[in-house]
Amino acid sequence: MAIEEPEIIDTSKMSAGQRAAIELTEAARTAPGGKTFAAGLFMGEFNLAGISPFPIQSDDDRARGDVFLKKLESLLRDAVDADEIDRTGEIPEVVIDALAKLGAFGIKIPEEYGGLGLSQTNYCRAAMLLGSWCGSTTALLSAHQSIGVPQPLILFGTEEQKKKYLPRVARGEISAFALTETGVGSDPATMTTRAEPTPDGNAFIINGEKLWCTNGTKAGVIVVMAKTPAKIVNGKSKEQITAFIVETNWPGVEVICRCRFMGLKALYNGVLRFKDVRVPRENILLAEGKGLRVALTTLDTGRLTLPGACAGLSKRCLEISRKWAGERVQWGSPIGKHAAIAEKLARMAANTFAMESMVLLAASSVDKDKHADVRLDAALCKLWATEASWEIVNDAMQIRGGRGYETADSLRKRGETPFAIERFLRDSRINTIFEGSSEIMRLFIAREMLDPHLKVAGAVLNSKLPTSHRLRATAKAFGFYARWYPAQWLPASASGIRNAALKRHLRYAARTAHRLARGIFHSMARHGPKLEREQLLLFRFVNIGAELFAIAAVCLRADKMSGGAGDGEVLGLADYFCKAAQLRIEENFRHVARNTDRASYHVAREMLEGKLADVERGIVNSEGEN
Ligand SMILES: Cc1cc2nc3c(=O)[nH]c(=O)nc-3n(C[C@H](O)[C@H](O)[C@H](O)COP(=O)(O)OP(=O)(O)OC[C@H]3O[C@@H](n4cnc5c(N)ncnc54)[C@H](O)[C@@H]3O)c2cc1C
Repeated sequence: MAIEEPEIIDTSKMSAGQRAAIELTEAARTAPGGKTFAAGLFMGEFNLAGISPFPIQSDDDRARGDVFLKKLESLLRDAVDADEIDRTGEIPEVVIDALAKLGAFGIKIPEEYGGLGLSQTNYCRAAMLLGSWCGSTTALLSAHQSIGVPQPLILFGTEEQKKKYLPRVARGEISAFALTETGVGSDPATMTTRAEPTPDGNAFIINGEKLWCTNGTKAGVIVVMAKTPAKIVNGKSKEQITAFIVETNWPGVEVICRCRFMGLKALYNGVLRFKDVRVPRENILLAEGKGLRVALTTLDTGRLTLPGACAGLSKRCLEISRKWAGERVQWGSPIGKHAAIAEKLARMAANTFAMESMVLLAASSVDKDKHADVRLDAALCKLWATEASWEIVNDAMQIRGGRGYETADSLRKRGETPFAIERFLRDSRINTIFEGSSEIMRLFIAREMLDPHLKVAGAVLNSKLPTSHRLRATAKAFGFYARWYPAQWLPASASGIRNAALKRHLRYAARTAHRLARGIFHSMARHGPKLEREQLLLFRFVNIGAELFAIAAVCLRADKMSGGAGDGEVLGLADYFCKAAQLRIEENFRHVARNTDRASYHVAREMLEGKLADVERGIVNSEGEN
């Protein structure tokens, strides 16, 4: 959907800032390819046909991945001291060289350009391995190939660009992605970095400053997002954002400082300044003005790396917690036999299994079709996995008790096993913030969730359009909903699975997809165009969709793993996961009907207006005496 088609979202009553943000991101949304399972969910479709039986990696692909993963695992065990990296804030050059020699900087880069040419599934398996060991090393490799130069180049690069840069980055020349600025976090419309064309039009001159660029202090090449001159579209001036490949040894590129964080201590993250940097036109990715599309599409598949790493981290936390819960005796029995700890262990195991299942499902869609539209699938994985893994690492700390809070070095000094839960917790907190915060992921998913409705009924509500256009749209919408809405009340079924308990869960999920679709429709009818302001309401629908996606992935994978009819252990785990997910879904539905949204918004507004000052009194504050 492009801004050239204004009937979808009525921006006429928005503030200028809001309108700019919406129009810019709307313009960057890629035209949807085939509808995935995830996209159908929000319209009441629980169509398992494309994903059932659960897509298992082929023996051949697995074997190719295993060769690399074995070497990577040995390198991590033998040469990557994650606690030392955390302590010193540096990844030793020998480690970076060894990773490069292994091909770890070019896992997905096709062999013809010097990479390993491995599949998305194998790349996600590598992320899992890395995530279970060292957050800083994971971030180095992930920022390089999930958002740095390789991914957008594979997707959008010209043959010349690929030949020039892919072999370099595959060999280990580090790359980065620079979008964020001091005033640009989740909203790229406010970007101030500019690229002006030279008089001959052969190049652009970039000026600006980028914040928090991961790998930026070590990178040889960076994808830089900059504003290029506005274009007139349909008689109106439209902002343009363009993506450039910039080499850091070009004159005018400067690392201003290295940023340090709560975790990921060895992140090579910095503030980068671009002063009159001349970039040849041929270094534009995709096309002038298509920068946000490059960024968003890159992230569509790039976003699968983080959930892969989260699954690895969660498995590691689970392993440590299981061992400790079995051996630590308090109040006469192992702590794992006390119900409060047992419940945590079970939840950790079920959610870890779910996370891995969701990632494998989404990765298999990419492997089946490189151009598959996995926007929603990847966003659901990112949202669900980063939130669930944060809960898992937090639970692991609780299960380890005081030892969870103690550093690995301190544990080692006292002669205890140096499990690094404290490091894992620090390293993983950022996961719900970067590569699209949880709030932004929910907004993104909500936008996609409403898209089919906006396409059918958006014009009806758009006051910017002429009455004749809106009347025609009303007739079209009426025709669509007269068929679609009654179908959401029909019984739903889910076939393609052999185990009876899981079949029941899938039937529940299919019914719930109808209920979800009805809920979204009723909310649209109730709130009209104001629905986009009802964030908490939309977020509940998103949460329900994410749980349905998880239920589908878990049931299909467990059914496949157990051979169907048997009563394998994994079936019990899947059964428990689905029961717990059902409770979360029902809670979200309950809160759609009954909530404190108005009350909380009112309190927040009062606070922002400086009222309720008493709540903050009695502390050493940042503004002097109170
Ligand atoms: C360690 C680290 C590494 C990073 N690496 C990179 C990198 O390599 N390249 C790069 O370009 N950037 C990078 N970033 C930037 C990162 O992607 C941003 O921090 C992220 O986009 C959020 O921006 P912000 O911190 O300015 O938060 P803001 O956008 O200011 O948001 C603050 C809070 O408000 C919420 N919020 C914002 N808008 C809305 C809304 N409309 N509705 C509801 N809630 C909203 C957010 O979810 C968040 O909770 C990195 C950041 C860190 C800390």
